[in-house]
Amino acid sequence: MQTVLILLGPPGAGKGTQAARLASALSSPHVSTGDLFRENLGKGTELGKKAKQYMESGQLVPDALVIDMLFDRVAKSDCAQGYLLDGFPRTVAQAQALDTRLQGSKVRALNLAVADATLVERLTGRWTCKACNHIHHERFSPPRQSGRCDKCGGELFQRNDDTHAVVEKRLSVYREQTKPVEAHYRAQGVLSDLDGSRAPDEVFKAMLAAARGEGR
Ligand SMILES: [Zn+2]
Repeated sequence: MQTVLILLGPPGAGKGTQAARLASALSSPHVSTGDLFRENLGKGTELGKKAKQYMESGQLVPDALVIDMLFDRVAKSDCAQGYLLDGFPRTVAQAQALDTRLQGSKVRALNLAVADATLVERLTGRWTCKACNHIHHERFSPPRQSGRCDKCGGELFQRNDDTHAVVEKRLSVYREQTKPVEAHYRAQGVLSDLDGSRAPDEVFKAMLAAARGEGR
């Protein structure tokens, strides 16, 4: 049976990095709705053109369109055994819409939990190199010379996304819209809670075990 792994967790939980590692360990395609979106827009597919119309008129792209992009991708043969879904669903309505399309598939949701204070510390301490995009963190990977990139000597700056006000805003949107998705999957008995505040290697091991259905 097709197994669909769904990754949940707030911004800063390390989902993207873990998703890529997990997909490779499980030999399962990593399907990121953010990437699909960019791909469809970039290639000018029918779905991409439709999405663009909404965006250009300042509207939100409807869930049904995102789901069409998703199922267009996962209909390919490499996803027949399963895939790892990253960036979706972000709301309970999306999770419900996904449920109806995934009848007959086995769903497992992995939830990376990290305390807010830790997320804020991780997200607000990031400094990006203007020249090569390398990212330093003032606490976890500080540059040898203040304000200068270790890789190329370029000037470091703080992206707007990484400022305190924007980070707080992203976290509050997450709490309001996405956090309820946890309860949705918990009620179905398919959610595994994982402590995302540990070292990345430990988090990865726990995620791999949960993805394989161990320790349940
Ligand atoms: Zn650099």
